[in-house]
Amino acid sequence: MAVVVDLAVLVSVCESADEIAGAHVEIDERVTWVGPGTACLLCRGRLDAALAYAENLDPDARKALAGEGYVAAAATPQPAVATLTTLAAAMAATEFLLRLSGIGSTEATEMLLRPHVGDLRRNRISQRPGCFCSDPAYLARGQRDPYLDLMWPTPPFGERS
Ligand SMILES: [Zn+2]
Repeated sequence: MAVVVDLAVLVSVCESADEIAGAHVEIDERVTWVGPGTACLLCRGRLDAALAYAENLDPDARKALAGEGYVAAAATPQPAVATLTTLAAAMAATEFLLRLSGIGSTEATEMLLRPHVGDLRRNRISQRPGCFCSDPAYLARGQRDPYLDLMWPTPPFGERS
């Protein structure tokens, strides 16, 4: 079974309405695996196709289109905390090995971790009707141009030819 394992780490500084409490930090980590019959990252709202398109543009074209309001501006810098990214990477590698060996449960296809509050959740959602991932004709077409018949000409994450 072909599987994609995707992961993300987001560290956010949240302002509080309570001036005494002040700002606080929230940490969200996610590991999602996608295979035939599972909801893709677009179904889950985990991938923004317009942002992926913008990130695939050369910097000058992106800057020009951003100035005209046609694409998102440059990404906001995010802090990288080695322990957090290592945690997500280890969870993703474990998920990959579980899919590869076939010994892991397929009940959930996503894990959401909020380490600052000790919260770990899992979920499995249905494919969105009409999404390309629910059409068997799109299985194993990730390496063709255009990539998955989406609006960007090459995979937004990975090597470019
Ligand atoms: Zn989908």
